[in-house]
Amino acid sequence: MTAIVWLRDDLRLDDQPALRAAAAAPALFVYVFDRNPARPLGGAARWWLGKSLAAFATALAAIGGRLDVVAGDPEAILPALARHAGATAVYWTRRYGAAEIETDARIAAAMRREGVATQSFNGQLLRDPEAVRTGAGAPFKVFTPFWRRCCELGPFEAPHAAPRKLHAAPWPHNAPRRADIDDLGLQPTKPDWSGGLAQAWAPGEAGARARLRRFLDDGLRDYAEARDQLAGETTSRLSPHLRFGEISPRRIAAATEAAAQGAHAHRGAEKFLSELGWREFSHALLLQQPDLAQKNWNPRFDAFPWRRDPPALAAWRRGRTGYPVVDAGMRELWTTGYMHNRVRLIAGSFLTKHLGLDWRDGEAWFWDTLCDADEASNPANWQWVAGSGADAAPYFRVFNPILQGEKFDPQGAYVRRWIPELAGLDARYIHAPWTAPTGAGAGRAYPAPIVNHAEARARALAAFAGLDATPPQRSPSARKAAKKSG
Ligand SMILES: Cc1cc2nc3c(=O)[nH]c(=O)nc-3n(C[C@H](O)[C@H](O)[C@H](O)COP(=O)(O)OP(=O)(O)OC[C@H]3O[C@@H](n4cnc5c(N)ncnc54)[C@H](O)[C@@H]3O)c2cc1C
Repeated sequence: MTAIVWLRDDLRLDDQPALRAAAAAPALFVYVFDRNPARPLGGAARWWLGKSLAAFATALAAIGGRLDVVAGDPEAILPALARHAGATAVYWTRRYGAAEIETDARIAAAMRREGVATQSFNGQLLRDPEAVRTGAGAPFKVFTPFWRRCCELGPFEAPHAAPRKLHAAPWPHNAPRRADIDDLGLQPTKPDWSGGLAQAWAPGEAGARARLRRFLDDGLRDYAEARDQLAGETTSRLSPHLRFGEISPRRIAAATEAAAQGAHAHRGAEKFLSELGWREFSHALLLQQPDLAQKNWNPRFDAFPWRRDPPALAAWRRGRTGYPVVDAGMRELWTTGYMHNRVRLIAGSFLTKHLGLDWRDGEAWFWDTLCDADEASNPANWQWVAGSGADAAPYFRVFNPILQGEKFDPQGAYVRRWIPELAGLDARYIHAPWTAPTGAGAGRAYPAPIVNHAEARARALAAFAGLDATPPQRSPSARKAAKKSG
């Protein structure tokens, strides 16, 4: 009665239904490192995955399990493994990307042909997106009613504790060869750019729990008011832990609700849970539009005249646009694999509106450099910022990077931390260093603005206004359907 637990983005013991299902009998706990996935992980996420797998292997071993890593195509490996192990069941946590859904369906069918049962569980979201529908049974396209419905459906399922004991089955003879985590090539070597990431993060379930504890103790009460402030740690920084499933959203929600009771932090808790709601909403959108990272949600944007400007894109990526809050964010991202949400909004708006560059260029850079790069949240947020997304920011919202900096980093502490050239600059000029008189402490190495704010804003508004006059285009499937119906 051997079971297989197929681990993916759920590298934890706590509140892990797939592991619980296999706790009673001997099981194989398998991670298949797909060398040819639909969208390969970016560099920062690869770094995180390597560390997370190592932490999970240790935690699993401590309760009698054993993490077996195999590199290759899951569709070939899993059925072969099930056959060699004489497995009777395979368990996994559901994923929401189109390619992953298709892979899982094909593997389930292959297992059925072998006479092996499969069972999947929701462990990644508070609610399965299929369960959150409008009165008419349609998926939601607007956040507020989506989240209202999520909350109206009753309390979120309570998280389950980690199994106390697991039983590792022996690795079968003739089964695919196992790989060493260190041999997967996940860590950067030449050059090794991961020093800043290692300083900033502790990947793994224990690191996730510690982050949650710290946030609930120190950050929850003031979260609603303080979350947009850039200096200090005003948010939970749980996003990469959630990305790799090192902590479950149900555990976070339950711990947040309990902490809010004790600390009278209901406003903070409500706001914080609604941010988790945005994560749920992004996954619900991905399910509705599988090519969210390539295709505009709003087809009007298919006609948008994005510019091509490689030097401007390079300046944005490297944090050398001359706008301190944008550059500080881009350098924080490069160094730590993370960027504060407010700065993601400002930097995203700057790329798409001030520079007029395609949101897909920004999405791709974030995909490569964010530890939390997520196939739902990254494109959904990029499209939101660009104006092409579901429930998106209106096109005329062009963030002013100077005013945003002054509002959310009034003393310039965030800018000084990430831009040493400006460390000595008086706070009056910190968000517009080009206005500083000589002797105010502006570093000469810091670039002048690559675009003028007022001119860039006017250009963006003109381009977006032109877009509004363009009739909406239909998707190919809608065109086909229209043709068919005459
Ligand atoms: C252009 C852009 C790209 C983004 N790309 C990603 C991404 O690839 N992966 C990712 O997890 N988040 C992404 N976000 C959302 C958000 O910036 C991060 O989730 C957040 O900054 C993570 O920090 P935190 O854990 O301290 O958040 P907290 O403020 O502590 O929020 C708690 C959790 O809620 C979720 N959350 C918060 N805001 C959002 C949001 N707007 N959309 C979806 N989930 C949210 C995250 O899981 C987060 O960990 C992006 C936002 C923008 C504007």
